[in-house]
Amino acid sequence: MAGQQDGRETPLDCIVVGGGPAGLTAGIYLARFRRRFLLVDSGQSRAAWIPRSHNHPGFPGGVNGIELLERMREQLSRQGGGLVEGSVSGAACHQDGLFRVAIGDQTFAASHLILATGVIDVEPPLPNVLEAVRRGLVRQCPICDAFEMIDRSLVVIGSGATGLGEALFLRTYTPHIVLVTLGQPLGLDDASRRRMHEAGIEAIETPIVEITLEGDRLARLICADGRVLIFDAVYSALGIHPRADLAAALGVALYPDRRIVTDDHQRTSLDGCYGAGDIVTGLNQLGVAMAQAQIAAVDVHNRLRAREGLCLPS
Ligand SMILES: Cc1cc2nc3c(=O)[nH]c(=O)nc-3n(C[C@H](O)[C@H](O)[C@H](O)COP(=O)(O)OP(=O)(O)OC[C@H]3O[C@@H](n4cnc5c(N)ncnc54)[C@H](O)[C@@H]3O)c2cc1C
Repeated sequence: MAGQQDGRETPLDCIVVGGGPAGLTAGIYLARFRRRFLLVDSGQSRAAWIPRSHNHPGFPGGVNGIELLERMREQLSRQGGGLVEGSVSGAACHQDGLFRVAIGDQTFAASHLILATGVIDVEPPLPNVLEAVRRGLVRQCPICDAFEMIDRSLVVIGSGATGLGEALFLRTYTPHIVLVTLGQPLGLDDASRRRMHEAGIEAIETPIVEITLEGDRLARLICADGRVLIFDAVYSALGIHPRADLAAALGVALYPDRRIVTDDHQRTSLDGCYGAGDIVTGLNQLGVAMAQAQIAAVDVHNRLRAREGLCLPS
């Protein structure tokens, strides 16, 4: 926490919920604006699952997700900021215009709130799936890492428009793609099925008896009809669950998929409350999360400067 007070007696300038790339960026900016803030994180950043990101600008040799988070925490600490480990269990906006958040049996108050709570991936039902994600055998994000899969053989687990959409995206990189629905109906209309066949994508709708992951590179599928198929990697197109409980409790406007609605300044429908990162956007990327947090933190600072009489009347 930056500043002299901890928000229990004197309200803080801002509370940032979430210490992934978005929340940490907000913290770095708020610290550099010499703001009094609390950054709280429950340690479940998606970034921690990135084996090595090769698309994040500035790292020509790629960067491991945990290393990136550690670098950002160090940067925060060098600006005099800090991160409190814990989970915000409740948040409310009171008539005095202050946000109050509960962490354990303590309550903290602030004039601004940045929600950077992220999303949770729906993982495919595979043995040791989290270890496989960590090793890059099960992948979540073709925008992030399909370039590393050129001409490899890939399974996309999913169905409907989402599953086929991901398979078609991957088609830029490799012709060897099979869409596996895990026994669910394919859920595609005739036009989409035609598009799939034209792109040379095969669909397997029969149940899968077994999927085993071997080493860092191979997935072996045993289908109910006896076929055995071997692939270099599995992409999951099963979607995500936004961590939107706090936003919902605050009454912040959400899209039907429960992501937060924001304007160009990352402001939510609730005055003084902001959203940044995966919880906001459809484009789940490190750089997008960081940029949104920068915009939010600058807007918080500018609002506070206006209250302090430190900017020109507009
Ligand atoms: C396997 C994988 C590979 C990826 N590869 C890439 C890549 O190569 N390039 C790229 O650009 N992107 C990649 N991504 C996406 C990237 O990780 C995310 O876009 C990024 O982490 C989003 O940052 P965020 O801060 O919004 O959310 P997160 O990183 O998920 O952080 C949210 C944080 O909020 C905390 N939190 C939630 N609720 C609470 C609460 N109530 N109280 C306290 N804390 C709370 C969580 O514990 C978590 O630490 C990848 C994602 C995955 C899963």
